[in-house]
Amino acid sequence: MDKQPILFWFRNDLRLSDNSALNAALQTGRPLVVFYIYDSNLGSRWSRGSASLWWLHHSLKYLSSKLDSLGGRLYLFKGETTAILDELIKKTDASALFFARQYAQWDRLLEDKVQKLCGDYAVDCRRFAGYLLNEPDTVLNKSGQPYKVFTPYWRAVLSFDIPPPKNLSTAKLSKALGAFSKKLRSDKLAEWKLLPRKPNWARGFDIWVPGEQGAKDLLSGFVKQNINRYEKERDFPAYDMTSQLSAHLHFGELSPRQIWAKVKQSCESEDIAAPYLRQIVWREFSYHLLYFWPSLLDEPFKDKFAEFPWKKNKKWLISWQKGLTGFPIIDAGMRQLWAIGWMHNRVRMIVASLLVKNLMIPWQEGERWFWDTLVDADPANNAAGWQWVAGCGADAAPYFRIFNPARQSLKFDAEGDYIRKWVPELRQVPDKYIHEPSTMNPEQMEQYNCVLGSDYPYPIVDLGESRENALAAYHMLNK
Ligand SMILES: Cc1cc2nc3c(=O)[nH]c(=O)nc-3n(C[C@H](O)[C@H](O)[C@H](O)COP(=O)(O)OP(=O)(O)OC[C@H]3O[C@@H](n4cnc5c(N)ncnc54)[C@H](O)[C@@H]3O)c2cc1C
Repeated sequence: MDKQPILFWFRNDLRLSDNSALNAALQTGRPLVVFYIYDSNLGSRWSRGSASLWWLHHSLKYLSSKLDSLGGRLYLFKGETTAILDELIKKTDASALFFARQYAQWDRLLEDKVQKLCGDYAVDCRRFAGYLLNEPDTVLNKSGQPYKVFTPYWRAVLSFDIPPPKNLSTAKLSKALGAFSKKLRSDKLAEWKLLPRKPNWARGFDIWVPGEQGAKDLLSGFVKQNINRYEKERDFPAYDMTSQLSAHLHFGELSPRQIWAKVKQSCESEDIAAPYLRQIVWREFSYHLLYFWPSLLDEPFKDKFAEFPWKKNKKWLISWQKGLTGFPIIDAGMRQLWAIGWMHNRVRMIVASLLVKNLMIPWQEGERWFWDTLVDADPANNAAGWQWVAGCGADAAPYFRIFNPARQSLKFDAEGDYIRKWVPELRQVPDKYIHEPSTMNPEQMEQYNCVLGSDYPYPIVDLGESRENALAAYHMLNK
């Protein structure tokens, strides 16, 4: 008789190397059944957004072809997770289920349900770490409490040993996959319709190469070409100096410890490595916050912000979403987001500041738009990023820090290269006016083919006045 198989459930760990759960499953020497479940109800309104589904499709396609090449098969199931697992356990007579942990509340509740289900069948249920460098509850302050401030958290992480990544034996994996001889019914990826059709708004996404190999290549290129300049140039959106690994990290196509090891190994000094590793630890910190404060997704971390007099203004919100605010750096960022499903970090901060401070629109509206449009949409980083800018998060930007888009643009995109790339109406506008086209007179508008009000909008708000209004509202909170 065949040995009882192990069920291996791929989640946000769509990779074969440095996958602790997969390595442990192989160690058992048992046949392996590997699968992914598309549970579209997970987290209800936090089900994956449209851009994220695009990435998921391509990442699963890559993983599936990789497993095929090893003589195995990635089974695909759509539906409610526990119902699918229940059926799978019965059909395969599996002795164990292995998977990697996740940290949003809906994932944790689901994992508990799965554990219980396994208990009912006497199936060994094992959860593994691997999505983060450290499990959130292992990094605590001296009083045993979670950190609320980044710098001491970062120092604590630096004092930990980060174990090196572990490679996987493809020969062992191939053998374990081949040892499961039964045929199971699997969905076809195309049936899930994860890709947009009419219209296909994702045409510009073809700059991305989802999947483990794409992630490894991007990391290698980054440490070879960019990391030395990362600290000085990471804030300039036209330079494309950052690693662009965020979606790969979100889907677990690469583990943070693979990044940690590669960066440490490749950099000549700690000083070169640290600014980049610090960003990886910001991701850890966001997960630390989400783990201990699950309401981070919807509610302000600082309670008093529940009283903030947010405004509902659909017209402004739509102008912001479409990149038609009349502030060039904002419009460039929002159009970059729409075109390629990603936006540079500095610009994320500037567009978020305009939305929550000058327009006084609730940060949750921005969070939801990003959730739907970012290929790297991530529950922890997105919520923490928005709360940070809004001033209501842990260790957040102070409320009085309101970015002036024109000044930010002058500082970080002085020649307007980023703006001209994403806002073609402004291509002929000279540097002098590119950050604030409303300072052109009517003749200049004609001359540079950019008449405000017809070719490009006038600013939707007065920056000075809206800044004063926001500050007054913030002052009220602090009374
Ligand atoms: C309003 C707002 C919303 C955001 N939403 C998301 C999101 O949904 N998903 C997401 O991954 N990041 C989010 N970020 C964080 C950051 O903007 C992106 O991680 C970064 O721009 C991704 O580009 P990169 O991979 O080139 O970053 P790099 O500069 O190369 O950094 C390397 C990695 O470190 C992590 N990282 C970098 N900056 C941050 C940060 N500020 N907070 C947490 N982790 C960070 C990311 O995993 C990133 O891939 C948001 C930031 C803001 C201000």
